[in-house]
Amino acid sequence: PAHTSLALARIAPSGTTAMTDRAMELRAAGRDIISLSVGEPDFATPPHVIQAAKAAMDAGDTKYTAVGGTARMKQAAALHFARDLGITVPTGQVTISAGGKQAIFHALLATLDPGDEVLIPSPWWVSYPEIVRFAGGTVVPLPSHAAGGFRISADQLAAAITPRTRWLLLNSPGNPTGATYPASELQALGEVLRAHRQVLVMSDDIYAPLRYGEGRHATLAVECPDLADRVLTVSGVSKSHAMTGFRIGVAAGPAWLIQAMEKLQSHSSGNPCSISQAAAVAAFEGPQDFLADWRERFRARRDLVVGAVNAIPGLSTPVPDGAFYCMVDAAPLMGRFGDDTALALHLLDHGVAIVAASGFGGKDGFRISFAADEATLAEALRRIAGAVA
Ligand code: PLP
Repeated sequence: PAHTSLALARIAPSGTTAMTDRAMELRAAGRDIISLSVGEPDFATPPHVIQAAKAAMDAGDTKYTAVGGTARMKQAAALHFARDLGITVPTGQVTISAGGKQAIFHALLATLDPGDEVLIPSPWWVSYPEIVRFAGGTVVPLPSHAAGGFRISADQLAAAITPRTRWLLLNSPGNPTGATYPASELQALGEVLRAHRQVLVMSDDIYAPLRYGEGRHATLAVECPDLADRVLTVSGVSKSHAMTGFRIGVAAGPAWLIQAMEKLQSHSSGNPCSISQAAAVAAFEGPQDFLADWRERFRARRDLVVGAVNAIPGLSTPVPDGAFYCMVDAAPLMGRFGDDTALALHLLDHGVAIVAASGFGGKDGFRISFAADEATLAEALRRIAGAVA
């Protein structure tokens, strides 16, 4: 009776949640652990969003909604795509789900057949390869490196595409590296994709509002409008509006794909949470000015972490352009520690929880999430310096 499916056997549990859970266990046992392993902002959800959720409950918005979200929510998502990403879409090409994660899950499950190949730049967000494998697809890693800004090149993409390639998964700004693709590089990738009509592209732009560079955010559907009919852009409120617990994600793409995702959603979660949708409408339609303040605070933390890491012998990191992560290279320490998982456990012993690069398809390093206040970050970096000295 304890038999699980072959599909489940193809996947591993999330490495980031495993580390967060382990840190919580140690804390519960009385240990002083600083957790820099989480992927969520430490800021409170904006009060007008909370208010909208309460008002929705009081107004009786507590029932099933349309499968792909309420009309109001789809309009708010379309507003977000237009205002924040420059993507103009009718609401028929927008769908709402329980987090960006569910949108990605449904898109891949609805389109992959056994043997279909999915190109994923590594280091990658932990869930991409697992979802691909669960859906029966084959993961094709496209390794990226600090020296190349943790971005893949057009040549690398061209060399990896085969007749079986079904998807390219792009994530900018990226988790776990913070790497952000400029318009020119997206155009170069688009030039390669143009010749391969079988390839769909997922553009995961969930961190777009949290960028530190100047100028507008670049995204494939805008840089290469002729490819927009095979691009699914994924976004949400989890990161930009500190709403991870609300579980609302949004996606925009070709109508056939949106309909396929909704067909699947009609039998999985049924619809996104009615109360969370009301909150997400307030998030997208309400004031956005707090974001400038959050960005500034994240930028200060980023600078603190990057400066401190690069001052520790054996560790180095490039400056991330967006999101709230930095990918630390610890290759010079591998002779002493063996591998990055051993180093992560060693750091945990010294009171800091981070996630080993191998959890993201990388190697010889670890990801620091700087979604913590500056005093906490400074103490964590002191502990890391002590642990590797
Ligand atoms: N995409 C990336 C790159 C992420 O880092 C995350 C969250 O960790 C998600 C998507 C999904 O976020 P959510 O399901 O909370 O919207």
